[in-house]
Amino acid sequence: MRQLIIIGSGPAGYTAAIYAARAQLQPLLIASSVEAGGELMNTTEVENFPGFPEGIQGPELMMSMQQQAERFGTEVVYDDVVRLELDGDVKKVTLGSGVTHEAQAVIFATGSAYRKLGLSDEERLSGRGVSWCATCDGFFFKEKVIAVVGGGDSAMEEATFLSRFGSKVVVIHRKDTLRASKIMQERAFNDPKIEFVWNSEVVGITGTDAVTGLILRDTVDGSERELEVGGLFIAIGNDARTHLVHGQLDLTTEGTIAVDGRSSKTSLTGVFAAGDVIDPHYRQAVTAAGSGTVAALDAEHYLAQLGDSVVAEAEEIVAAH
Ligand SMILES: Cc1cc2nc3c(=O)[nH]c(=O)nc-3n(C[C@H](O)[C@H](O)[C@H](O)COP(=O)(O)OP(=O)(O)OC[C@H]3O[C@@H](n4cnc5c(N)ncnc54)[C@H](O)[C@@H]3O)c2cc1C
Repeated sequence: MRQLIIIGSGPAGYTAAIYAARAQLQPLLIASSVEAGGELMNTTEVENFPGFPEGIQGPELMMSMQQQAERFGTEVVYDDVVRLELDGDVKKVTLGSGVTHEAQAVIFATGSAYRKLGLSDEERLSGRGVSWCATCDGFFFKEKVIAVVGGGDSAMEEATFLSRFGSKVVVIHRKDTLRASKIMQERAFNDPKIEFVWNSEVVGITGTDAVTGLILRDTVDGSERELEVGGLFIAIGNDARTHLVHGQLDLTTEGTIAVDGRSSKTSLTGVFAAGDVIDPHYRQAVTAAGSGTVAALDAEHYLAQLGDSVVAEAEEIVAAH
């Protein structure tokens, strides 16, 4: 049996692996079969991860994290976890291949997924004008016309933030009223750089190497038109990847895994969670990495205590004889 299994190969999983491996826990990290490296594999330039003054490409950053984790003894497996049995002292992790690994502790770092529009051009132009994160990418859109899709609080927040950079921000919403809270709506309505296009949905994104425009369909009369933009931010929601632990771990009302205070401790002993899967607000590579550190330290502490109690039990048995 292993001491520790880490599920997820984003900044949270790899950072947890670096710490756990340096603590001699020889972790097994399940990286996923097709999405190894996490969300930063889908982007180009990352300019806000500390230590890279000139920026770094997302995939390069993730490869470096993996190499660093492996250098200290992390074993990486490219497979998906399909079933988890987390109750009790022995945690069971079953992979798509059918193999089941057992461990004393598990760190769950499966991240979250931004909701997508479902257009083929969305993937093609991801990192080339299509983005899901204004904090991450707003800076690249200076003096451009930027479109934001969505009508909730996060769409208003993204639009208000992006108005610092863009020449104009156009919020596109399927209805003629917003879902966002009153205060967020007012902030957006009062911003002279933000315009609204009501009753419209994005049905196409144009551009070969970068976004140049959107095809909008009127949700009332079905007519279509093109809107010239230099960027598209999709702000229609985000879902923590928790399906594997439904019914096993407590979740928050926001759908993330519930942890105890600033720790990574979930509702089950020996199970820790880190990164975007516990974070409804910040969702940045560096916060996920920090959260991975917390999880590794919590797991290390838990395993050390387990070790101590095994020794104490053995001493009691010896004393009794
Ligand atoms: C396009 C884009 C650009 C971004 N740019 C920036 C940026 O410039 N700066 C910044 O700070 N942040 C950026 N972010 C946000 C950042 O990528 C995330 O906050 C960060 O990756 C979260 O790390 P994580 O480890 O929690 O999750 P993730 O990076 O999402 O990694 C989760 C991992 O878990 C794996 N996984 C999930 N389910 C399973 C399973 N069943 N079995 C095995 N593995 C599984 C996934 O495959 C993945 O490897 C960007 C996000 C996107 C989408």
